[in-house]
Amino acid sequence: MTKKKGTRTSIGDLVGALGRRAPFDLAEEWDNVGFLAGDAADELKGVVVTVNLGPEALAAAEKAGANAIVCHHPPIFKPVSKVTRSSSPYLYEALRRGIGVVALHTNFDLSSEPLSRELSATLGFPFKDFLAPRGGSALPRSARLGKFVTFVPEDKLDVVREAVCRAGAGRIGEYTQCSFSTEGEGTFFGGEAASPKTGKAGRLERVRERKLEVVFAWKSLADVIAAARAAHPYEEMAYDVLELAQPSRALGYGFVGEPGGRPTGHLAFDKVLDNVKETFQLRSVTVAGPGMSKPDMKVGRLAFSPGSGSSFVGAACAKGVDVYLCGEVGYHQMLEARQKGLTLVLLGHGYSERFFVETVAGWCESEAAAPVKKIFETVHENF
Ligand SMILES: [Zn+2]
Repeated sequence: MTKKKGTRTSIGDLVGALGRRAPFDLAEEWDNVGFLAGDAADELKGVVVTVNLGPEALAAAEKAGANAIVCHHPPIFKPVSKVTRSSSPYLYEALRRGIGVVALHTNFDLSSEPLSRELSATLGFPFKDFLAPRGGSALPRSARLGKFVTFVPEDKLDVVREAVCRAGAGRIGEYTQCSFSTEGEGTFFGGEAASPKTGKAGRLERVRERKLEVVFAWKSLADVIAAARAAHPYEEMAYDVLELAQPSRALGYGFVGEPGGRPTGHLAFDKVLDNVKETFQLRSVTVAGPGMSKPDMKVGRLAFSPGSGSSFVGAACAKGVDVYLCGEVGYHQMLEARQKGLTLVLLGHGYSERFFVETVAGWCESEAAAPVKKIFETVHENF
């Protein structure tokens, strides 16, 4: 979007800009992200960024005259059969006041490598890898790459290549119009009803052809095929579509970091805890596993994932992590960690997502020609 201050921005423009920072189609299939309530055509008057759509965010929107709330946890998760004051009070209130609601959830988590790099450095364990890289079949299909292959007579190669590239194929990083072609011979035998562009129906034809290969983002599959078909000279275009294992860019949840550059290659656990509390502005955290009784334990590898960390305890163990920092896990994951010698540091779900608010508010400030307010609500408290 990137409009100059003072120009008109709609809620839809804000949604579009956020979708470019954290593509909505990256979200897990069970998730529900994007523009969830409101009127996209409304002029944007102000934005509130929050972890949850709750009373604090609504009060802040009212005070600031804001009509968009960007939240981390989707206020609509499963299909809803009604939106009444008693069934969904906060969503009802947002709709009643004409406030647009946008959710960035797993699409944000998978798009936050820059944040992970910054946070890992602040904690003293610079980024080495994602805690749970996402690629291949684990990635939503829309975030994968495909390869389009077709067979074109030599003199039409450029026409077809240009057409598919205009439809979005052939992009690799900062390069466009990337393609590869090889020479070969095609054969066909046209039936009685066929009207071949070259040769005749009713006999075996041999034609010098080029095999053209281009990568494309899976979401542009239909456009690429349509463009190729329109530009291809043959009555029947022969083509292959292959699904590639690599994602369109490096994606993953959380991070694993190591104190690189230190002569010792590790930090003492009590120092790690001090860094964590300072970074996340916490008075206390919950510790489980070996670190409970060993404050001077050497920490050579630290992992972090925001929110619920239950599903990544196994990944942290497999990556040789000493300390795994996350929002929360269940008692059974604490037992699993103890058994495997992994120390867990639990920040509390909401506190571990503090940097969602900071990051997304920054995005909104640089994209929206409207005031942006950050809300960090206290849903639970450590005493
Ligand atoms: Zn969460």
